[in-house]
Amino acid sequence: MLKVIDLSVQYGYINALNSISFNVNKGEIITLIGGNGAGKTTTLMAISNVVQKYSGNVYFKEMNITDFQSHEIVHLGISHVPEGRKIFPALTVKENLIAGTFGNKRIRKNELNNKLEEVYTLFPRLRERINQGGGTLSGGEQQMLAIARGLMMDPDLIMLDEPSLGLAPIIIEEIFELILRIKKSGKTVLLIEQNAAMALQIADRGYVLERGKVLIEGTGTELIKDERVRKAYLGI
Ligand code: ATP
Repeated sequence: MLKVIDLSVQYGYINALNSISFNVNKGEIITLIGGNGAGKTTTLMAISNVVQKYSGNVYFKEMNITDFQSHEIVHLGISHVPEGRKIFPALTVKENLIAGTFGNKRIRKNELNNKLEEVYTLFPRLRERINQGGGTLSGGEQQMLAIARGLMMDPDLIMLDEPSLGLAPIIIEEIFELILRIKKSGKTVLLIEQNAAMALQIADRGYVLERGKVLIEGTGTELIKDERVRKAYLGI
């Protein structure tokens, strides 16, 4: 579904990504793990064309989208949920969700209610809080809202940047269960995580990034067993 080939990104003189390649197949959860500054966020931003690529290519459903604009990429079916939630605090839960469909050709007006219903079924906690202000939600609920908003675009691929960041362990478990449910609903997931242990448990495959390069790749189970991963990322 997604192919990233020899992708490089530079910020001034800094090589944030140094020719990384990976692929995501339909229906998979793929995780990119790695320490601070490894280039995980930059990878997602380069796919969405929020940062400029220095070189390399990105293919989505066999189409070369390397130079497509961000909104075109969304319309093709890639939804990007950035780090730090970034919901609209002054809008209600429902309004935040509807905002996720603005300008989106994939959702017709008459489909909006069905889409909302689908999302509420996946996120019962949001259904209970339809009219609550986004800013008054707990951290975990705000993260759920950010993911739910990303799903309102009815993407084929959803890219999640550190959804567990700053959340309590019990909420983190809930978020990871949700990601599994999103996969079961037929979506493909590209997940970035510092919480390597949890991410590898739910991932079909993963890639370990270090200083802008892919260092190790394998199935979730293989990576959990890998000595280097255990030492560097699982603290074992
Ligand atoms: P973290 O988990 O800490 O967010 P990351 O793996 O997501 O890390 P990136 O945020 O992609 O890493 O950063 C990769 C490298 O690029 C880092 O060295 C970072 O300092 C640098 N970098 C990121 N954004 C910029 C920017 N706007 N200007 C200059 N350097 C940047």
